Amino acid sequence: MITIGVLALQGAVREHIRSIEACGAKAVEVKRVEQLEEINGLILPGGESTTMRRLIDSYGFFTAIQEFGRQGKPVFGTCAGLILMASEIDGQDNAHLGLMNMKVARNAFGRQVASFEAELDMKHIGDAFNAVFIRAPYVLEAGPEVEVLATYQDRIVAAQQGHYLCTAFHPELTDDNRVIAHFVTMVEASMKATA
Ligand code: GLN
Repeated sequence: MITIGVLALQGAVREHIRSIEACGAKAVEVKRVEQLEEINGLILPGGESTTMRRLIDSYGFFTAIQEFGRQGKPVFGTCAGLILMASEIDGQDNAHLGLMNMKVARNAFGRQVASFEAELDMKHIGDAFNAVFIRAPYVLEAGPEVEVLATYQDRIVAAQQGHYLCTAFHPELTDDNRVIAHFVTMVEASMKATA
């Protein structure tokens, strides 16, 4: 059975667990580094990226997550998770995990429109996906190996680089599980590739 972990140090964990289970996979709240060995794919949830990074460091997850990805195991970052995955953050000297070759901007839709919803047509996933944005980042620049899956107002809000996936919005907050289902198929594919 496919087992997908959600990094459970901070942020929107429970909703991801529900979505993973709705897609027929087993879901685990990951709180200790050793648990990475029990899972086939990892979700970095939304929350607050600076706080999450601090917790990633204090619980010893930093190099462990990078190594998890290096082994070809899929990682999916949503919102703050997208920021954690980027190789560059606009206006900051240091990025975090650097799993995806892209530059991101934080709180990029402005404080006036902190939260909003939009219908997106998404490559590999389908049309009219109701995306919930909460103080969302977006991808300012993406390297050639990064595939853009969706844009909103000409800004990249979903992307994939091999076995890495990210969305600027929270796909787990609606009952439409298509984005998580896409991640489940990525995990399935990676398991076949390494079997
Ligand atoms: N603005 C937050 C950050 O910079 C992300 C918001 C979210 O995950 N909903 O970390």
